Amino acid sequence: MDREVRVRFAPSPTGPLHIGGVRTALYNYLFARHNGGKMLLRIEDTDSNRFVPGAEDYIVESLRWLGIEIDEGVGHGGNDGPYRQSERRDIYRQYVSQLLDADRAYIAFDTPEELEAARAATPNFQYDATTRMSMRNSLTMPADEVKRLIDGGEKYVVRFKIEPGRLVEVDDLLRGKVTIKSDILDDKVLYKSADDLPTYHLANIVDDHLMRVSHVIRGEEWLPSAPLHVLLYEAFGWTDTMPAFVHLPLLLKPDGKGKLSKRDGDRLGFPVFPLEWHDPASGNISSGYRESGYLPEAVINFLALLGWNPGDDTEIMSMDELIERFSFDHCSRSGAKFAYEKGKWFNHHYLQALDDARLAEMFKPVLRDNGVNPDDFSDDYIARAVAMVKGRINFVKDLWDQAAFFFKAPTTYDPKAIKKRWSADTPAIMTELIAQLNALPDFSSAAAEQPILDWITANNYHMGNVMNAFRLAVVGECKGPHMFDITELLGRDETVTRLQTAIDRIKPDEPAI
Ligand code: GLU
Repeated sequence: MDREVRVRFAPSPTGPLHIGGVRTALYNYLFARHNGGKMLLRIEDTDSNRFVPGAEDYIVESLRWLGIEIDEGVGHGGNDGPYRQSERRDIYRQYVSQLLDADRAYIAFDTPEELEAARAATPNFQYDATTRMSMRNSLTMPADEVKRLIDGGEKYVVRFKIEPGRLVEVDDLLRGKVTIKSDILDDKVLYKSADDLPTYHLANIVDDHLMRVSHVIRGEEWLPSAPLHVLLYEAFGWTDTMPAFVHLPLLLKPDGKGKLSKRDGDRLGFPVFPLEWHDPASGNISSGYRESGYLPEAVINFLALLGWNPGDDTEIMSMDELIERFSFDHCSRSGAKFAYEKGKWFNHHYLQALDDARLAEMFKPVLRDNGVNPDDFSDDYIARAVAMVKGRINFVKDLWDQAAFFFKAPTTYDPKAIKKRWSADTPAIMTELIAQLNALPDFSSAAAEQPILDWITANNYHMGNVMNAFRLAVVGECKGPHMFDITELLGRDETVTRLQTAIDRIKPDEPAI
């Protein structure tokens, strides 16, 4: 590859970035970094009707959270700016004139009503070589009339003049050569005088050229536009520096057929956006990966493998490892099912890799949400509680289910466990257990376990029943980590208090309190 690799992520700020868009950004980034190239962020906001306030900030914040670093672009500077298309009007005007002067484009005045009438009169009407000479444009009207209308402020568009009878070839690094006949293309609108803005097609091509983009990596939904883009490069005389194309396969529904949609997320309970999104128009809130408790490294790892593999069955890869191994050789051409359960698996993995102190910090807001003031406990206490149960969680919030009893003494006891483990003689045995615990010279897990087990054995008590009643009293149910690890952390006083409370409150053969 002799050309400097320069790729761009070019979202339109029409709403929150979809998770498929995040994958596109990621593949651009991995490809750029793998090849020592640059990653650009360009905001394609030429469609003023679809502009949504807040969407641009959302995009920038999403990429930042995920660790997809931008070298040049909106919010990051660079020598080829501005990187927001609405700020590049002067540039586009110049290129529109160039096409008009070269007779590769023309001015059209047809009103929406006139276009509607043409559609009604001709089945499958398309504005192209077969119809353009019967429409109201600079090809059919005298030049002075065209000038008069423009000077009079009549609204017009500039259309690209597609020559029929051409074979247009799109060279796609994933798909090979895709060839189509130019006859099927319509004379696309490139510019609208109404808002003095180009359309996506013109702005996209001009900017890719001026920003020296080497590879256009984008979603498959843009493949139908690619032949038109090839013809535009040709019309400008830029074929030598035309970028290579990569059209990434779609993300598919986790079940069934078709493209992944927001509705699938709502139906099956997973986010389709990186961050929570507050829709400014409706006030609706859509869930995001960040707020749902996903770590960015888990989202990155999960998304990277939706449409690409490293050539073997390695699954866990950090961003650096992904960069190291990424290439389009192992990208799939067919859609990737959005196996969201796998996302949880990645999150589980990356949570285990976190340091306990960090995880404890992340757990503090969850404690607060559950009515526990984390300041009532030392950081070390919280970290040790977290360390004992983290193997069982997929999300930080799951820590509450697993570790609540470290922070709140049980107020109810599992009725099934009472039935099975708490019989008429249990209170007396638990009272003896209190005495045993109080007599232990060392309350640490390692030191406490053997003497207590020896006491159970020496008295011919039922090991399972005694230990489970002990657990029920301390935890509230028969679950949790190793019993003596729990009591070591709770400490002797708290353990004994909980045993005494259970003795007072649990009535055998009675429903739970
Ligand atoms: N603005 C287009 C989008 O929203 C960019 C498509 C492209 O990358 O060419 O995805």
